[in-house]
Amino acid sequence: MTEPTGSGAAAEAASLGEFSRRAGEFLDSAIPANWSELEPAELIPVAREFQAALYDAGFAGITWPAEYGGQGATAAHEQAFREQAAGHDLPTGPFVIGLGMCGPTLVDLGTDRQRERYVRPLLRGEEIWCQLFSEPDAGSDVASLRTKAVRDGEDWIVTGQKVWTSGARHADFGALLARTDPDVPKHAGLTMFIVDMRAPGVAVRPLRDMTGRSPFNEVHFDQVRLPADAVLGEVGAGWRAAVTMLGHERVSLGGATRRRDEPLGAANLARLARENGTAAVPQVRAELAGLHAAERALELFSVRLRQEAESGTPPGARGSVGKLGGAMLLWQALHAAGEIAGTDAVAWEPGDEAAEELAVAINAVPASSIAGGTNNVQRNIIGERILGLPKEPQVDRDVPFRDLRVGTQRETT
Ligand SMILES: Cc1cc2nc3c(=O)[nH]c(=O)nc-3n(C[C@H](O)[C@H](O)[C@H](O)COP(=O)(O)OP(=O)(O)OC[C@H]3O[C@@H](n4cnc5c(N)ncnc54)[C@H](O)[C@@H]3O)c2cc1C
Repeated sequence: MTEPTGSGAAAEAASLGEFSRRAGEFLDSAIPANWSELEPAELIPVAREFQAALYDAGFAGITWPAEYGGQGATAAHEQAFREQAAGHDLPTGPFVIGLGMCGPTLVDLGTDRQRERYVRPLLRGEEIWCQLFSEPDAGSDVASLRTKAVRDGEDWIVTGQKVWTSGARHADFGALLARTDPDVPKHAGLTMFIVDMRAPGVAVRPLRDMTGRSPFNEVHFDQVRLPADAVLGEVGAGWRAAVTMLGHERVSLGGATRRRDEPLGAANLARLARENGTAAVPQVRAELAGLHAAERALELFSVRLRQEAESGTPPGARGSVGKLGGAMLLWQALHAAGEIAGTDAVAWEPGDEAAEELAVAINAVPASSIAGGTNNVQRNIIGERILGLPKEPQVDRDVPFRDLRVGTQRETT
């Protein structure tokens, strides 16, 4: 067994090789058996326990500041852990949004009290977070959202609706973007809040996707009261907070660790091709080689982004390259899977778990081009901010939100 550290000191002192060995040993022994067969509600306690074990062993928040419970270690340590983790299937799904998006935003923009209060419990798996940005009429154009937060003395009263909120059903807290001033242009009148998802007036309704699962939800806010210290960042600076979080989101989605045996990975598809006798087909070989090269390029790109961030160059718009690359890779894999598995890619014999896993992964591919900002939106960001192409026309940039008549905005407040 590994020695618990719970602080940055041990990870810092450990050599990379020793750190990697410890990580491998921990993962070999600590992952609960058969967790992937659990229903979402059953998975939550198991995932919390595993995240706590990760924390105790010194593998949660590897590069996060030690003062808030992170390990304060280097991007190389993070990479060493990821390489070990790629050989395993980890029950960490419920924490993807908290650890990839909300936590880093709290570290960047939170007050000392907020960092103290929220970061460590998040790293220890005690609290699950969700991201409350999208609305029925404000997805790509996040800044046109209508959920409003109105001052009531020191407090705020929130009313409105969010949609596609991943994991909201099991979340303890949410990072909510709401309109606090309809009299200024749409980007200027937003504020980000930390919402207790169990507060009176918050209602969560699950939505089902085409894989048959319910990964996301509608969330309704009916006169939800938030205290003054629920504001994350500054009042009216919600757009800056949103851009910060979206930046973390793109890097985390684009640079997510890929399991070595994941169903749509080149290694698994090559195994399938060998098994079903298609490995010698030139088209299949070309698809597999291309897929392997793309996987490797994306992996090295995200390593590079993390190393540069460590030495002071934030990813900025390059996060969109990783996000777009990750989604395009999945479509490439889907195409290869179709060549290799044929009808087996969409139908399977009862009890054939590998085939079922492949079909479910295939059904989930389209969502990757939408969640976290669509492929076209990433292309716009890359075009404008990396390639210096002309900006999209923005006719509503300077118009007070109250006067806009875009989308389905028919009310004024
Ligand atoms: C699996 C999944 C999980 C999600 N989880 C969350 C979550 O946890 N929290 C959350 O807040 N949201 C979440 N979302 C919502 C997601 O961020 C939005 O669906 C996404 O931003 C697109 O918004 P939309 O669906 O309103 O589509 P729209 O914005 O209506 O876009 C429709 C189409 O128009 C294109 N388009 C729109 N604007 C432009 C433009 N300017 N230039 C070129 N093309 C454009 C888009 O690319 C797309 O093809 C999730 C979505 C999915 C699918």
